[in-house]
Amino acid sequence: MTIDLKAFAKENQIKFFMISFTDLFGVQRAKLVPTQAIENMQQDGAGFAGFATWLDMTPAHPDMLAIPDSTSVIQIPWKPEIAWVASDCIMNDSIVKQAPRNVLKRIIKKATDDGLYVKSGIEAEFHLLTPTGDQISDRFDTAEKPCYDQQALMRRYDVVREICEYMLDLGWGPYQTDHEDANGQFEINWEFDDALQTADKHSFFKFMVKSVAEKHGLRATFMPKPIEGLTGNGCHAHISVWDNLGQKAVNNKFKGIGTGQTGEVGLSKQGKYFLGGIIRHAGAMTAITNPTVNSYKRINAPTTASGATWAPNTVTWTGNNRTHMVRVPAPGRFELRLADGAANPYLLQAVIIAAGLSGFENQSDPGKRWDIDMYSEGHKIRGASKLPLNLLDALREYDKDKALKEIMGEEFSQAFLKMKHKEWHSYVSHFSLWEKDNTLDV
Ligand SMILES: [Mg+2]
Repeated sequence: MTIDLKAFAKENQIKFFMISFTDLFGVQRAKLVPTQAIENMQQDGAGFAGFATWLDMTPAHPDMLAIPDSTSVIQIPWKPEIAWVASDCIMNDSIVKQAPRNVLKRIIKKATDDGLYVKSGIEAEFHLLTPTGDQISDRFDTAEKPCYDQQALMRRYDVVREICEYMLDLGWGPYQTDHEDANGQFEINWEFDDALQTADKHSFFKFMVKSVAEKHGLRATFMPKPIEGLTGNGCHAHISVWDNLGQKAVNNKFKGIGTGQTGEVGLSKQGKYFLGGIIRHAGAMTAITNPTVNSYKRINAPTTASGATWAPNTVTWTGNNRTHMVRVPAPGRFELRLADGAANPYLLQAVIIAAGLSGFENQSDPGKRWDIDMYSEGHKIRGASKLPLNLLDALREYDKDKALKEIMGEEFSQAFLKMKHKEWHSYVSHFSLWEKDNTLDV
């Protein structure tokens, strides 16, 4: 239901609206619009030069207009005179097909036309670093196994409490906060929701965590592997499919017989088809779930200081066992453990649904479930695909996956591949110290 933003401003003493959109690389771009201009902006949108962001456009393109989706509006808790609103990009009166929120909305529509309402919860891990981003901010946070460290958690209480209280006020239903497996790493969990709502919340969460950390003189990062040798920042996604949106959802279509570790895991036939799609397209999906050069320091990584990376290296699934790419922790949902903190919140949801829809259409079999410790016994598995070893391999796999590219949209796929290949070329043309150390005396 559309909200009148002018009335919203009056009611909440809003001075500015932050009209925000997310580009292909997951960067949030915004314009601050004073309240007296919001009526027109809500109608016509805020103008942006697309080329100046990570979108496949030239300087000659006309204005791209970001039309606020008023249903997403959030009064910024740490700056209540501003309201953030996600927006949808148009150009020449047409939807910009490569814009990530548009990609997600189109795929959600495709799913709901088939009566499939995807709900999703995400676990966006982050590190709290010094302002320059090169060190863990808490110099006493040095334990070999720092996960759930009570003392280290309390030393960052002021930061995580503030974030959690804002989430409570926003009605997101946060239910736990902990110190994660790397020194300086934290996670705050909140309730799952419809995929678009989760994507908007995920975007806002990243903005909020970074902003609150800055307020406390720290730097928050979702970088996949910010500290060499320590566990990286995952962004696990918990997926289920229901019979309706929001509160109207009654039946979980993924719920099947069985309860967990032994026997059936509790996924319905539809749940298994969806999972089959994820398994089938995993290599290609990786380009989107793990979209940076640094992402490949987290997956396929050597053992970290804590004893485990908690990240997958092979395309396998199981029951309640965290060493696989997909685990089914409880009946009626599965957890995709592939994505990392660099994943674009909109494209992450989009590619999961796209792969799942392909699985549905083809009645894909997810294959054998493996109840082994992948970190110590992974070599016993024959025939399971390995995840791409670097961004270039992932982009090539995405490019080869015609079915997934088609569901994600040809225009989007071309734009994404073009921009990401450019990024890869920029990376490989960069001279590193490693090269000098290992090549100087050849
Ligand atoms: Mg975690």
